[in-house]
Amino acid sequence: MTDCSSQCAHSGLTCRDLTERVSEYLDDNISILTKVRIGLHLASCTHCRTYVQQIDLVSSALSCLPNLYPPPMNRLRLQQQFATRYSN
Ligand SMILES: [Zn+2]
Repeated sequence: MTDCSSQCAHSGLTCRDLTERVSEYLDDNISILTKVRIGLHLASCTHCRTYVQQIDLVSSALSCLPNLYPPPMNRLRLQQQFATRYSN
C-alpha cells in the first residue's frame, strides 16, 4: 500500500491510522467522529477504499464459515455414532 498522506491530509487520518481501525469501522465499534474521518479518508483514497472492501469481503466470508460445520448437537451425535461404531 502506498502512502497518500498528503492527498488524504484533510481527513486527519493517514492510511496507517485507517488500516489500524478498519475492523472497528466495519464492526461499527467506533465514535461517530472517527467514522466521519474514515469516511472522508475513504472518499479521497482509492487504496484504502480497496483495502476496506477486501477486509469487508473476507470478514463477511468468515462470518459464513460456522454454517459450513455441523452445529454442536449434530457434532455430538456424530461423535456418539463414531464411538458406537468403533467400540464394537
Ligand atoms: Zn489511504
